[in-house]
Amino acid sequence: MELNLQPLNLPSDQERAFIIAGPCSAETEEQVMTTAKQLAGKGCHIFRAGVWKPRTKPGGFEGHGEPALPWLARVKQETGMLVATEVATPKHVELALKHGVDILWIGARTTANPFAVQELADALKGTDATVLIKNPVNPDLELWIGALLRINGAGISKLGAIHRGFSSYEKKLYRNEPMWQIPIELKRRFPQLPVVCDPSHISGRRDLIASLCQEALDMGLDGLMVESHCNPDKAWSDASQQVTPDVLDFIVSRLVFRDKTEHADKLKDYRHEIDELDDEIIELLAKRMKVSRNIGEYKKEVGMTVVQTRRYSEILDKRGAQGSLLGIGRECIKNIFENIHEESVRQQMEIFNK
Ligand code: PEP
Ligand code: MN
Repeated sequence: MELNLQPLNLPSDQERAFIIAGPCSAETEEQVMTTAKQLAGKGCHIFRAGVWKPRTKPGGFEGHGEPALPWLARVKQETGMLVATEVATPKHVELALKHGVDILWIGARTTANPFAVQELADALKGTDATVLIKNPVNPDLELWIGALLRINGAGISKLGAIHRGFSSYEKKLYRNEPMWQIPIELKRRFPQLPVVCDPSHISGRRDLIASLCQEALDMGLDGLMVESHCNPDKAWSDASQQVTPDVLDFIVSRLVFRDKTEHADKLKDYRHEIDELDDEIIELLAKRMKVSRNIGEYKKEVGMTVVQTRRYSEILDKRGAQGSLLGIGRECIKNIFENIHEESVRQQMEIFNK
């Protein structure tokens, strides 16, 4: 299925990538205005703040709801920034649009629920809203695409995605594992879909934000959503992952924005070279399989088993070592040879069963 998309036309940071910044939650009018003015002073064009906050457990700050929406309207009026907030119910959609919120985003917990997403889609029908959809909390690309299709199916074509990482039971370095292959596959399937990275919710830690921002840009993602608060340590939600507007400005000033359009000719040459190498790899693999089948015939004739584990371990060890000498990760070589071996075994089994 395809997405019917229009460009988002969001103001970007010096034509490089668009950056959405602002606090996790709109806490007080003063906190919102102070943060917004500082961000605007640093050249930020799009302000985020959660007005309805989905909390894992009850008891945390769940947002002020509607009374905080006029604060966002004030941000727009006084700074000229566009404003964005999370919506999770049809009522949120109605109220946010009524108060002139420019960008609505659907949070990770909501994306995971097709009933909730469909209700949002129905509420958005007939509006001209710009909607960004965060990935679901679980690493399920199809569920993410499903949400995009539902919202797009309601006629919303100013649509984008936000990569905020995926939760795992085991807590590792990141709060939410980036699993870059998922947003990259999303971009491969829908090249026109803008994908924004949210390093704050991926990392859960402010010291990891800069490197994640760079990684996202290097992977060809189109923008960033970073949580920024005038007094991060005192934030009512997600304190450990927020940075001041000053720090954010420093992070952005150090980012290398890769040019996606220039140097196309050089890239074409390199890709041609890669294509030729890939041809050779496949031809070599086919030759190797032919030898494997010959071995299969022989094993069958003399009554040997298909898999000889000692030989298999020898291949993995030897090729792993060779790979790492040539600068290829041992694990990568191991995976490649495991796959090759699996196919060899399958082909030999065919011979055995003939
Ligand atoms: C947020 O952006 O503050 C938020 C709640 O994010 P997520 O839905 O990614 O957890
Ligand atoms: Mn947050």
